[in-house]
Amino acid sequence: MLEVVNAKLMYGDFTAVDGLSFSVKKGEIFGLLGANGAGKTTTFRMIMGLLQPTEGYVKYDDKYVSYETVDKIGYMIEERSLLTKMTVKNLMLYYGQLKNVSKEDILKRLDMWLNRFGIAKYKDKKIKELSKGNQQKIQFISALINEPTLLVLDEPFSGLDVINVEQFVEVIKEFKDKGATIIFSSHQIDHVESFCEQLLVLQKGKPILEGQIKNIKKEYKKHNIKVVGD
Ligand code: ATP
Repeated sequence: MLEVVNAKLMYGDFTAVDGLSFSVKKGEIFGLLGANGAGKTTTFRMIMGLLQPTEGYVKYDDKYVSYETVDKIGYMIEERSLLTKMTVKNLMLYYGQLKNVSKEDILKRLDMWLNRFGIAKYKDKKIKELSKGNQQKIQFISALINEPTLLVLDEPFSGLDVINVEQFVEVIKEFKDKGATIIFSSHQIDHVESFCEQLLVLQKGKPILEGQIKNIKKEYKKHNIKVVGD
C-alpha cells in the first residue's frame, strides 16, 4: 500500500504541495488530476523519494522510500527526452540494472514489450531517431522493466492517440490484476474514466476533490481545469 500523509513540499518559499493525503491499496489504480503546475510531478517526486516532504510523509509497504524499496517501483517521468543518444537496448540495460534486474531478464522482457508494442525493429536505434509516440512507449517500457509492484506514471497518455492510450491502459490493467499498486497523473478526466477507481484533483498544490470518478465528474467539469498544450 502507498500512503501519502499530510504532505507539504516547499521549493524555497514557494509551496508546491500542501495538505495532501491519500492512500492506494494493492490492485488499485489511483489517478491524480490537475492543470499545469498543480503539483502532480512534485507529488510523484516525493513518492519516489527524490524530494523529502517539508511536512508529512510518504510510505510504501510501511517503509519510507529508500534504495531498498525503489527496486520495486517503476517510474515513468514526464520529460520524455532523456538520454536520447542511447539506443533503446542500452537505455533499457541502464534502467534495468539500476533496479538490480539481470541483463538476461532485461533483454528477455525488452523483446517481449517491443514485440507487443510493434516496435521491435527499433531495438538498436537511438532514442532520438524515434517518433515522439514511440519514445513514449520506450519510456513506458522502462517503467515496467523491473516488473514493479508500485507503478508511478506521470502523464503517461499525453500526446498519445486513442489506440495507443488503449494499449497502455490494457497493460496498466494487467499490472493491476497482478496486484500492483498504480498511480498516474493526467490532465483529462475523460482519459481515465474507463479504468480508474479513485481520483484526486489538485489545484495549486491543494487537494480540491477526491473520490470515485462517477461521483466527482460533474464537479470536476465545473472547475474548468485549463491545461496548456492540450
Ligand atoms: P505539469 O502538468 O505542468 O507538469 P504539475 O502538476 O506536474 O504540472 P509540478 O511540476 O509539480 O506541477 O509543479 C508545481 C509547482 O511547483 C509549479 O508552480 C512549478 O512552477 C513549481 N516548481 C516545480 N519544480 C520546481 C523547482 N524545482 N523549483 C521551484 N519551483 C518548482
